[in-house]
Amino acid sequence: MKQKINNIYAVIIGAFCCGLAVFSGAATADPLVPTFEELAPGVWAGVREDNPRNPVMGTATFVVSNKGVVVYDGGGMPLYAERVIEKIRSVTNKPVTHVAISHWHGDHNFGIHPYLEAFPNVQVISHSFTHRVFNSKRIRYIDGYSTGTMEYKATVEGYMESGKDREGNPLTPAHRKYYNNIINDADIVHGDSQRVKITQPTITFDDKLTIVSGNRSIEFMYLGDANTAGDIVMWLPQEKIVATGDIVVVPVPYLFNVPPRKFSVTLQNINALDYDILVPGHGKIQRDTTYVDLLIEFADAVADQRDVLLAQGLSDEDAQAKLDFSAFEERFTGGDPYLTFFFNAWSKRPFRAAVFKALKGIPMVEIIAEE
Ligand SMILES: [Zn+2]
Repeated sequence: MKQKINNIYAVIIGAFCCGLAVFSGAATADPLVPTFEELAPGVWAGVREDNPRNPVMGTATFVVSNKGVVVYDGGGMPLYAERVIEKIRSVTNKPVTHVAISHWHGDHNFGIHPYLEAFPNVQVISHSFTHRVFNSKRIRYIDGYSTGTMEYKATVEGYMESGKDREGNPLTPAHRKYYNNIINDADIVHGDSQRVKITQPTITFDDKLTIVSGNRSIEFMYLGDANTAGDIVMWLPQEKIVATGDIVVVPVPYLFNVPPRKFSVTLQNINALDYDILVPGHGKIQRDTTYVDLLIEFADAVADQRDVLLAQGLSDEDAQAKLDFSAFEERFTGGDPYLTFFFNAWSKRPFRAAVFKALKGIPMVEIIAEE
């Protein structure tokens, strides 16, 4: 997810959100702290707790073999990546040999340059689509990192001073905590964003790439379009662990530019792996298919509704307005008002547009050539 866009979400979130569920835990000192869990011997995930905290940070996963370490999504900011590297060094003296990028969004890869400095022989893996985006104007949103954070801090300070959000609504305790995090985190996020570099892949593929690292076999696979047209999953067949990047995001999905029918098929392909553990791009580790099943049901149901409405002769605009997500909202949010806000901002609103765009025969995201 883009930081600039994320700041826009934050503005919207600030305008409407309330509720305390996601704020219930004590905030970590800064937002670039992974919480590590060993999923199987030598297989680790570093999850940034409180998924919606600004900026969102993709989960980092790494696999230690008797020859080296293979990383999938090494970090969305340099400090996050350095903390993953520190963890790697605390569990093994083997070098990182490969860092794979799940997809082009910066919260999964803008931080990975420190791996090149720490491990000079490291190879960087991505889908060829991701490589094309990295060499296009599309990736230049990185430039907004240098100013966006401090501009948004100033906006939020204005809300705190006035006690009202952008819409003039009084701030709830949840707003205040969310905004306080943004104000307190701004310096470290801004400072670290100055160190961000695009790290180009050195190995690209279209369908499947297997890395044999000593005693481990690590498979990278493109299983279909979803969050982008080039998301790759990491599959560990011996351990039956899959890391999905943002094809799966918990507890509410990111559905920007997601084509619903293809998304459903891609998710079914993930379930067909028969995994024991699924590491989402953000949010809690899953240990069964319940959440992916819900995503499949949701994607199919919304696409079915669209098709029925269009068959009735409605215009895209009228059909969009009639799409009804109410059967699913509670199932994703549990009725929590804070999560409901994110369901609106990350799932409902963008999906409403994407399901129609998917019929247009144009790329969901256009790759704009560098000038
Ligand atoms: Zn992400």
